[in-house]
Parts: sequence; structure tokens; C-alpha cells
Amino acid sequence: MDSKYQNPEDIFDCKLCGECCRGFGGTYVTDHDRVSIARFIQADPDNFINDYCDMAGSRPVLTQGEDGRCIFFDPEKQCTIHPVKPYMCRAWPFILTLIKNPENWNAMAGSCPGMKKDIPAQDLIRIVTREKARLDRASDE
Ligand code: SF4
Ligand code: SF4
Repeated sequence: MDSKYQNPEDIFDCKLCGECCRGFGGTYVTDHDRVSIARFIQADPDNFINDYCDMAGSRPVLTQGEDGRCIFFDPEKQCTIHPVKPYMCRAWPFILTLIKNPENWNAMAGSCPGMKKDIPAQDLIRIVTREKARLDRASDE
């Protein structure tokens, strides 16, 4: 019998709670993100890292506001840069590190209410791998 888990929405349904926009260190900014977001908010791409990011090791991450959330989060509108939000925000939770061990997925599901727990490993790996590839192709277009 075919598994009941076939599509991304079978394992993830974002609740728009904004929890993933809170906490330091998560939202890495790629160079493509830097240029896209800067254009979107009409800022200078050359100053974007300095003005809107902090460094986590060698990688820039979006700065947090005083409320502990990403500076681009608005309690009413949610993500104010939604069309150009960083790759990491677009891809979540279809990230390969979350399927290296299915326990990683369940652990993250504890703080992300959109992730369904206890998905059979083979279904999780198949769906996340396929969805990540689809997102990567779309990012290259
Ligand atoms: S924490 Fe999960 S459910 Fe909440 S907004 Fe982020 S991705 Fe969606
Ligand atoms: S860019 Fe948008 S989706 Fe990503 S952490 Fe900031 S507010 Fe949340």
C-alpha cells in the first residue's frame, strides 16, 4: 500500500506563528539574498551586511530587533520582505540537515508547530530531498 505521506503538505503546514523568526543565529544571508533584499527595501547592497546583519562566525545573519525577532518581522504583516526572504526562510523545513537523522526533524517540530512529527524515515527523506531540489531549481531561475 502506498504511504499516506506523498507531498510536502503531508508533512508540513505552516501555521504563520512567527516562531521561526525569533532567536539569534538562524537566518543566514547568502550573497544572492543580500542583493535581492537590498533592492527590495531600496537599500545599498554594499552596506546591507553592515546595516541589517550581524556575523555568526564568518556568515552574516539577519539582525534581531529588541523583541528578539528578525528585524524584518512585523507582528501584523509577518515577514515584510516575504517575496525576497532569505533562502533559508524559503526552504524551511526542507533542509537536508533535518533528515540526516529523523530525530532532528522531530526535535525541530517541537518549536515549529507546522512540522508533523513521527513521519516514517523513508517518506521524510524522499519528500524533503525532492522539495529541496525543487526550491534550489526555482532559486536558480
Ligand atoms: S515556526 Fe513553523 S509554523 Fe511557525 S511560522 Fe515558522 S515555519 Fe511556520
Ligand atoms: S526574513 Fe522574514 S521569514 Fe525570515 S526570519 Fe525574517 S521575518 Fe522571518
